[in-house]
Amino acid sequence: MAKFVPDVTTDRWVIIAEGRLKRPRDVEKNHEGVNKICIFCPGYEKLPGEEVYRVGAGAPYAPGWEVRVIKNKYPITDFHEVIIHSPDDEKDIDELSLEQVHKILLTFRERYNFHSKNGHVLIFNNVGEAAGASITHPHSQLVVIPRQITIDALTMEPILNVVFDNRHFVVFCPEFSQWPFEVWIAPKKRNETFGQITAEAIGDLSSVLQNALRRIIHHLSGGEHFHPGVPMVTFKAGPAYNFYIHHGQDWYIRLIPRLIHRAGFELGTGLSVNIMDPQDAADILRQETS
Ligand SMILES: [Zn+2]
Repeated sequence: MAKFVPDVTTDRWVIIAEGRLKRPRDVEKNHEGVNKICIFCPGYEKLPGEEVYRVGAGAPYAPGWEVRVIKNKYPITDFHEVIIHSPDDEKDIDELSLEQVHKILLTFRERYNFHSKNGHVLIFNNVGEAAGASITHPHSQLVVIPRQITIDALTMEPILNVVFDNRHFVVFCPEFSQWPFEVWIAPKKRNETFGQITAEAIGDLSSVLQNALRRIIHHLSGGEHFHPGVPMVTFKAGPAYNFYIHHGQDWYIRLIPRLIHRAGFELGTGLSVNIMDPQDAADILRQETS
């Protein structure tokens, strides 16, 4: 059982979740060259946690699904789910069909609304070891945090340094960017929660999310654009990034490539040092192929 502990000012909280230690880490196994059995792949449906939702055909715990949601066996809080993006063990949002990305985002909305009565709903995604992923099969997670716990999340930033947009969304690099190549996706219709997104807007979101990820991954994997005077930063061991959907009102998606580590200065001050001017990041991503 997770334990919530406040600091002396009760502004910040820590969650003590010892059960997380026991979770499997196929990222490490792969490094050691041990043959991988992926518990998120079709055929192993009975191995991970309880199935709570699926898109596609097939009985619970049987193959045939297109998106599958299970309870996390090693939860951070009382409600913690894993959303398996597709039966494909490797392809993620940047490579899957738009139709599949659409199904993933519909599942996000479905689970967000299912859990919104239970507390703050945070949906997030970790890709690559540098971003904290422990299982490589593409998946996202949903965690519900009790309402009385303060979440130290950013509120929507002003829209500047626009990379591109479509009918419902704008993709930009906010002036307040704590990480190099940080990218935000904001709905043009403001002051709603993610759960209120329309079916039509989800179609638009599928394409902007995929497009933004492709630009980031292409550039940071050594894309061809060289910009004099702008620091060259690239992924060291394949794509590594996080994104999350802001849990509350006036939602946005924040996408953070994991290129650098936070160090003593940041830990000691709570200040972030960003080596990349967000204006330059937006210029570069604007020219990048999607
Ligand atoms: Zn797999």
